[in-house]
Amino acid sequence: MPLTLQRPDLLLSSHYIDGHWCEAVGGSRYDIEDPAREQAFASVPDADARDAQAAVDAAHAALPAWRALPARDRSRILARWNTLLLEHRQDLGRLISREQGKPLAEAVGEVLYAASYVEWFAAEAVRAYGEVIPAPVDGRRMTAVREPVGVVAAITPWNFPAAMIARKIAPALAAGCTLVAKPAEDTPLTALALVALAEEAGVPAGVLNLVTASRANAAAVVDVWLRDMRVRKLTFTGSTPVGQHLARESATTLKKLSLELGGNAPFLVFEDADLDAAADGLMAAKFRNAGQTCVCPNRILVHEAVHDAFVERLVARVSALRVGPASDPQAQLGPLINRRAVEKVERHVRDAVAKGARIMAGGSPLPALGANFFQPTVLVDVDGRMELSCEETFGPVAAVSRFADEAQAVAEANATPYGLAAYFYTRDVRRIARLSAALEAGMIGINEGAISSEAAPFGGIKASGYGREGSRHGLDEYMHSKYLCQGELGPGQD
Ligand code: NAP
Repeated sequence: MPLTLQRPDLLLSSHYIDGHWCEAVGGSRYDIEDPAREQAFASVPDADARDAQAAVDAAHAALPAWRALPARDRSRILARWNTLLLEHRQDLGRLISREQGKPLAEAVGEVLYAASYVEWFAAEAVRAYGEVIPAPVDGRRMTAVREPVGVVAAITPWNFPAAMIARKIAPALAAGCTLVAKPAEDTPLTALALVALAEEAGVPAGVLNLVTASRANAAAVVDVWLRDMRVRKLTFTGSTPVGQHLARESATTLKKLSLELGGNAPFLVFEDADLDAAADGLMAAKFRNAGQTCVCPNRILVHEAVHDAFVERLVARVSALRVGPASDPQAQLGPLINRRAVEKVERHVRDAVAKGARIMAGGSPLPALGANFFQPTVLVDVDGRMELSCEETFGPVAAVSRFADEAQAVAEANATPYGLAAYFYTRDVRRIARLSAALEAGMIGINEGAISSEAAPFGGIKASGYGREGSRHGLDEYMHSKYLCQGELGPGQD
């Protein structure tokens, strides 16, 4: 089925270095498949180390002029980019749906979410205040100014092809940094369209460079940036093993790092919770993007007194979900990204059932729709020995277990190396205070399943990484403080 866009030029087939839409130096290309049909519908350059080098050369050359631009001018460019993203939300949504698989309404929602970060950082750009420090000795003036860190390398995953890259590019540009970026192999088209609109908004040549690469070449491209001393910041969203590799390899050039890594979020339902609200919150958090979100509840822990009543509500909601390709306007759940993702979900379900879990809904692939579709699934009697309790399933599987008391629930919730998001539902205000302190996570949803916002600091602790995206803290990740100490001012002067 052809991809019809109101602006056909937003379907790009080259990557972008130093203001030029170009081929890879080696001339290689790779195909982009629609995960619903597994058919190639576009292709992009397959970059190698030479393209990565050209990108960083361009970003380095463009840095002095971009950081010297008044913050208000950078802010205006970002504001224009935001306007263009909103104006072309339908086209961008179509690109996301086609290359990533999520239903169109959800894809357009992602564009709005991505744009909200651009709007936010357009406003933050002009508020990068420094400090005047009361001097402890006479005759000195002590101040701290904030400066852009320099060239930034941004590496992003496929699950939110617009939002993950927008919330790196926007604060970096706002801070006065220039960028080299690599989107995921599966979803480069949305990123390229975003860059085309950034160019249209007035981002100068060299300031934002995006290279596309197949999985086979990803490490070769990123290695160039890891080793280059001119790249002063690495911002990565993706899996924990790759994040750990990048942290190790960037140590020789001591880059500033933001690592937004994997999660294994607990979702706790207490005996005093509003069960309908909890079931609705879980549906929003768990089944959005077919369960392929880093903040997805991966372990659902329900108090034994309300377990059956909650599971009944959950099964009713899950069974009513409609699965289908993005071309089906009624579809609420699309395909998974590729066969590796389906195999992981199948493996997790098989392992859980073999160890005693019971399937209450779904449980199988949906080959009639395509090889990448999987039924929305509810499992009960899940326990900590099962693979799906230990690693994120990244698919539409709600894995439920029961607990007897709060202490057990908290202990089980924290029994993971990860610490990205956690959720709990209760009406007890004292319990809210206790759990807010006790749960080991960077973000906590309290009687709320949809926690992401450009106004909030998004990020994890423990093996989920460090650094925050969004909020006033998001700009700090792309700036450093420079302390200025001026002496010889004479007595009484500071
Ligand atoms: P991934 O395999 O770690 O890939 C992420 C990015 O890193 C892709 O661009 C990938 O390129 C690249 N990459 C892979 N191996 C690399 C290497 N050796 N050197 C340099 N770059 C490399 O993760 P994913 O499967 O795409 O995404 C899912 C993961 O992201 C999940 O764990 C999820 O929880 C996490 N995530 C976290 C957040 C958060 O904010 N904490 C948000 C969204 C997703 P290729 O595509 O070519 O492999």
